[in-house]
Amino acid sequence: MHELNLIRHIVQIVSDRANGAKVAQVTLQVGKLNDATPEAIRFSFDLATKGTLLEGARLEIVEIPGLGRCRACGQDVPMNQLVERCSCGSTDLERLAGDELIITHMVTV
Ligand SMILES: [Zn+2]
Repeated sequence: MHELNLIRHIVQIVSDRANGAKVAQVTLQVGKLNDATPEAIRFSFDLATKGTLLEGARLEIVEIPGLGRCRACGQDVPMNQLVERCSCGSTDLERLAGDELIITHMVTV
């Protein structure tokens, strides 16, 4: 399971930063175009945090909308799926946002 490996990695980073303290809350930014859905992330988080400093921590997920820039006309285009069409007709978009899976905040006890 792809998400579980990602979340294990995140749990590892948070544990290192926590420096032995128990973690009460973690906030993640997750891009809407990321393969990992909030449901899958929550499920993986519960599994990956068992027996760690993060066990029982509250997981907050902030979803980041997708955004692309049209390579044909330079316009910014909101992206709700991996392939979007610009108003000029082009589908050649440079992805600017929407892939994120970032730790933005953590609270230790
Ligand atoms: Zn365009």
